[in-house]
Amino acid sequence: MQIYNTLTKKKEEFVPLNPGVVTMYVCGPTVYDFFHIGNARSFVMADIIRRYLEYIGYNVRYAMNLTDIDDKIINKANEEKIDSNEVAKKFTQAFYEDIKKLGIREANIHPKATEHMDEIVGLIDSLVQKGNAYNINGNVFYRVESFAGYGKLSGKKIDELESGSRVEVNTEKENPFDFSLWKKAKENEPSWDSPWGKGRPGWHTECSAMSMKHFGETIDIHAGGNDLIFPHHENEIAQSEAVTGKQFARYWMHFGFLNMKEEKMSKSLGNFFTAREILENYSAETIRLFFSQTHYSGPLAFSEDLLKTSQSALIKVENFVDLIKENSATSGGDSETTFDFESYFRLFSDAMDNDFNTPQATAVIFDFIKAANKAINETEQVGKNFYSKVLEFLNKTAQNVLGIIDLEKVKMQKSLENDLVKLLLDVRQKARAEKNFALSDEIRDKLTELGIELKDSKEGTTFKIK
Ligand code: AMP
Ligand code: ZN
Repeated sequence: MQIYNTLTKKKEEFVPLNPGVVTMYVCGPTVYDFFHIGNARSFVMADIIRRYLEYIGYNVRYAMNLTDIDDKIINKANEEKIDSNEVAKKFTQAFYEDIKKLGIREANIHPKATEHMDEIVGLIDSLVQKGNAYNINGNVFYRVESFAGYGKLSGKKIDELESGSRVEVNTEKENPFDFSLWKKAKENEPSWDSPWGKGRPGWHTECSAMSMKHFGETIDIHAGGNDLIFPHHENEIAQSEAVTGKQFARYWMHFGFLNMKEEKMSKSLGNFFTAREILENYSAETIRLFFSQTHYSGPLAFSEDLLKTSQSALIKVENFVDLIKENSATSGGDSETTFDFESYFRLFSDAMDNDFNTPQATAVIFDFIKAANKAINETEQVGKNFYSKVLEFLNKTAQNVLGIIDLEKVKMQKSLENDLVKLLLDVRQKARAEKNFALSDEIRDKLTELGIELKDSKEGTTFKIK
């Protein structure tokens, strides 16, 4: 399997540190608000990558952190005149609710910064001891010039940075690019004890400390959105590798932005929809299909039209699944089929093995459905065996890896549809009994318009959804 590694800037064969096991850490949200559909893109794509690694047999140890102490959380708490703890708790809860609704499986660990203060303080202390960090009046900074590899992930060089960009003026720092490891407590802010006095950790430090606590000095995959390459991930490398002298992450993966009119969707620009808002109108499967149709690394423009296209494509898939289930229940015989299921499994794996090419993998699923439909229409050799293999293919690929279909949900939806039509037929029966033929005919006509055909007989009325 090939993965594009931001560190080496090329596709590389994926070889985990320990055979059969993959450790994967994805930078999660700062819990000060509901996450937006741009964040959701990163979380869904990470979920698909994890599921595929499991599909090919790896034991995946997956972590996604929750930043539960940060300026943004403190600001929100001040605005709402509540404790910052309460803000973090509320949006942590919302995070779990929303990932569940998006069909994103919980990580094995969702580490929180506030629960790892000992590790964070320990890491900073080691950096100070080694001369990679310095304390100025209770603020501790990382000395970027002390780490020779600084810039190796983002390709930015310290001297170029200095001439090229604007940085916050902070006269305390030795170098404008030195970054905060520990922030001295301000009045009325939450704080923790440390050798440098009361304060709280910097954001970059949390991820290094938590990744190393749970997965050791070297992890297989570290991932996040493109915006995190610099400075967040660059700084994580500088902190971790300065302390351990070992490679921090073997494969660095980055997700492209979900954009709104060519700008990154973000809270600060105000150009966002929350995932919950979108979930009011579109199913998790529709949203996941919309995301899957673009490679995880490229940009994707948010588009309701494309969401609607995904929605209609899925209605067809669901009708197909329904047909397969019905045929499977009623068809007799167990005749062998000549349909080449293996080649579709192979094509699916080929796509995903090529740096998780989900657009290609999705196309394989649609091609498969087309071919299976053709086999049903043209061959007489399709029996129970064929139908159960079709369901197995969809279950293993479209459902378990991509999460773009839920075979159980299709059944529930269909039975709900049936119940609703039966309800209308009861109303129509009552109308007829009361000789209200205008109403009974109207119900029949409206149902016909919707493609539901009624058949009256002495035993009652039956229907067929076309
Ligand atoms: P944040 O809460 O902003 O730290 O973001 C949480 C995760 O979502 C990080 O991995 C970000 O890189 C990612 N992210 C933020 N905005 C977007 C976006 N517009 N498109 C894709 N991923 C994003
Ligand atoms: Zn992080």
